Amino acid sequence: MYRLDTLFLDRDGVINVKLEGRYVQNTDEFEFMPGAKQIIAKLSGVFKRILIVTNQQGVGKGIMSAEQLDALHLYMKLEIEKSGGVIDKIYYCPHLATENCSCRKPSSGMIQQALIDFPDIKKGDSYLIGDSDSDIEAGKKEQLNTVKVDNEYTLSKWGEELLSVIE
Ligand SMILES: [Mg+2]
Repeated sequence: MYRLDTLFLDRDGVINVKLEGRYVQNTDEFEFMPGAKQIIAKLSGVFKRILIVTNQQGVGKGIMSAEQLDALHLYMKLEIEKSGGVIDKIYYCPHLATENCSCRKPSSGMIQQALIDFPDIKKGDSYLIGDSDSDIEAGKKEQLNTVKVDNEYTLSKWGEELLSVIE
């Protein structure tokens, strides 16, 4: 019934507005990108599942706790649900770039974990949307379709284009 498989979304700069030189630490600082909630709602009817894969080095730096980040993500998820969208799971990497972990993008550990958690994922019918080269690199490592967005060509614009093609 779903026409596409899994939509992997980066968070900062894709779902919410990225802050220059600092981390989004609480709900007051969390501003959805224009049209993001609405398009996620529409895409929830097209994709079998929507997952978030996000680097959150602020945790590793001690700028925010994992509990603060969890609270922020719960808020984001509920706001998306209020608009009619569904986020199936949120993966985040808390590590410092210097830790050389396998999850921080451009490494693809978070995607690999998702492939374990959802073994039916069909990579060829899945997309990864990000605003950084590291997102695109991570997606390509796992043979996902990748799309780079920015403040002009947003998730909303890409999503509307996709919907116009497949509907
Ligand atoms: Mg980003």
